[in-house]
Amino acid sequence: MTLPTEAVERVREDVCALHSELLRWNLVTWTSGNISARVPDSDLIVIKPSGVSYEDLSPESMVVCDLDGALVDGRHSPSSDTDAHAYVYRAMPEVGGVVHTHSPYATAWAARDEPIPCAITAMADEFGADVPVGPFALIGGDDIGRGIVATLTGHRSPAVLMRSHGVFTIGDSPKAAVKAAVMCEDVARTVHLAREHGPVERLPQEHIDALYERYQNVYGQR
Ligand SMILES: [Zn+2]
Repeated sequence: MTLPTEAVERVREDVCALHSELLRWNLVTWTSGNISARVPDSDLIVIKPSGVSYEDLSPESMVVCDLDGALVDGRHSPSSDTDAHAYVYRAMPEVGGVVHTHSPYATAWAARDEPIPCAITAMADEFGADVPVGPFALIGGDDIGRGIVATLTGHRSPAVLMRSHGVFTIGDSPKAAVKAAVMCEDVARTVHLAREHGPVERLPQEHIDALYERYQNVYGQR
């Protein structure tokens, strides 16, 4: 396979830089967590190397794989979650970026096998629904990827809490997937704090729909 060198280099730089956001927002511990991105107009993805500390990540250390998760170019072996990422890219052509973390508040909901109820406007804006829980799956093979795709297909939420494991988020770009991971941990914490002192009620569906519609289609600079 001939590598689309310039496009690959751009994506390597982008994916490397985005990993610092996982540190900045306290979403990862030691070497856990990973980001990948699709190389535009190709059947390639760029993903974090396995077991390399965040301080040692560089654009050159990012690993290029095909959509089956096989190594195409890189000095390191790819993240141990590569099969899950690759499955998502194969099944969801609209996805341009995937993020995985064990961010603590969101993962606590995953450990309880409990969706985060859509109880605050920021959640309705970003997720348009409860953040769902996906099935328990062992690492390796296609089980995690299959669980992510089965849960998020047709769902508004770009985030899934994989049971007893952690968070996977998708986006049309890796930056959008990182934003979803940051927001998922933020709302997981807020709803947790609220529930410590009393019951938390889901927003009425018509309010969720109105907030989601406005935020996704009207809010911000257009
Ligand atoms: Zn994990």
